Amino acid sequence: MTLQSVLDEIRERPGTGDVIPIIDPVTEEQITEFTDCGAEAVDDAVTRARASFDAGVWSGLPGRERAKIMWRIADLIDEHAADFAEIDSANTGMMKLQSEMVVPTCAEFFRYYAGWCSKINGTAYDVKTTGIAADSYVDLHAYTLKEPYGVVGLIFPWNGPIFNACAKIAPALAAGCSSLVKPAEETPLSALLLDRLIHQAGVPEGVVNLITGYGHTAGAAISAHPGVEKVAFTGSTEVGKEIVRASAGNLKKVMLELGGKSPVLIFDDANLDQAIFGAAMGIFVHSGQGCVCGSRIFVQRGVYDRVVEGIAGVANFMKYGGPSEEGVMSGPLISAKQLDRVMGFIDEGKRDGAEVVTGGHRLDRKGYFVHPTILTNVDPGMRLYRQEIFGPVVSIIPFDDEDEAIAMANDTDYGLAGTVWTTNISRGHRLVKRLQAGSVQINCQLIFDHDVPFGGYKQSGWGHEFGKEGLEGYLKTKSVWAQL
Ligand code: NAP
Ligand code: MG
Repeated sequence: MTLQSVLDEIRERPGTGDVIPIIDPVTEEQITEFTDCGAEAVDDAVTRARASFDAGVWSGLPGRERAKIMWRIADLIDEHAADFAEIDSANTGMMKLQSEMVVPTCAEFFRYYAGWCSKINGTAYDVKTTGIAADSYVDLHAYTLKEPYGVVGLIFPWNGPIFNACAKIAPALAAGCSSLVKPAEETPLSALLLDRLIHQAGVPEGVVNLITGYGHTAGAAISAHPGVEKVAFTGSTEVGKEIVRASAGNLKKVMLELGGKSPVLIFDDANLDQAIFGAAMGIFVHSGQGCVCGSRIFVQRGVYDRVVEGIAGVANFMKYGGPSEEGVMSGPLISAKQLDRVMGFIDEGKRDGAEVVTGGHRLDRKGYFVHPTILTNVDPGMRLYRQEIFGPVVSIIPFDDEDEAIAMANDTDYGLAGTVWTTNISRGHRLVKRLQAGSVQINCQLIFDHDVPFGGYKQSGWGHEFGKEGLEGYLKTKSVWAQL
């Protein structure tokens, strides 16, 4: 019912650009279509957002009032949990269990950041400075104010549509910002329902503005717009760099959550059953379409063969299929374009001498499915070793000792995440310090929590999401001086 209503609603949205089809990646059939809103709609949305911000209809509310409305949004998300799961599964092919697990997390984003609304405070400073006469002091009261950025652009990809939307909208609302919200062109459907609920909960018109269009049109217009003060972006490193270039015009601030080529280190003292299962899930779940997926697994030589065999066992056991199929553990890739990209990496790797332990081909069925793929004999010069594939493809590489493992793990332009599997506590914490990544996990993978900041080192990002740091990304600091 709700799925049908969003399929209809998006078709009716006004636009001036190309007609964009939305394809079910399981059936490869079109489920609806919409018209690119174009740059003019971005202009209008900036005007509305600015007017709402300046009028203070949201930014001027006491924090506790913003919090109440954010709690209402969270409750409405919970009430519509089944609808969100159905929409995201229909749009991405994601297994039902996964889309159902994600929705409560999305509601929690609003509750977590609602708690911060009444705790946005600066710091007071007791300062004495020399006056005109060098032998006297002037007493000053100085303090900082935390102020919302104003109009912000929130741009995110298709791999977790409702999750990505909530991760950005919740802290932006808590801070008091007005926003333009641009989901991926492939997956705008759950954002439509969220937009409805945000307004139903009591967020005034103009504060949250949904933008539906292509990245190179609508997204680019947001990034270049002189009326947008900050862009918070999740997506590829390549587009992240385009956004930085586009933002130079008004020197808008940019927060980037980008790609990764995250290393997983498995030592011979690890609990191998856990490490094998964890590392396999860490790349094959959601068809490898996760920014923190461990796409390079380094294994100590003594246990190398056993680990390769174990991960291959999990890969061959995992059933890939659509959300309505029984026993499915992962869905398809999002699009034909992504399928071609992933197969391109695999085919090129094979030509260059990589050995396929398992997979390396599409599933023999309809849909954008690639069999979970393990490659060995991979050379650091290969493109598949260097670049983010964003598919169920992993390279497994042997190492002899810690120094060699760390040197290989850090030999990448990315720095999003890393994992160490070991039962040696000292080694675990020692290697955490040596890994050049913004998020490092010991004996676990794919863990996150709203409370804990998340952000990339190197070319994996600027700034943080989640936690207090995630809120601060939407606040600027003003210094105030008063002579006493
Ligand atoms: P993408 O091409 O970078 O797109 C991400 C978002 O940016 C989409 O909404 C896209 O719109 C928009 N966009 C594209 N070109 C733009 C431009 N010139 N200006 C402004 N916006 C633009 O990424 P994707 O292919 O959709 O998603 C996969 C990538 O996202 C992977 O590289 C993955 O690592 C990364 N990712 C990172 C994280 C993280 O937290 N670090 C999380 C998830 C995904 P359209 O969809 O309309 O093109
Ligand atoms: Mg895209």
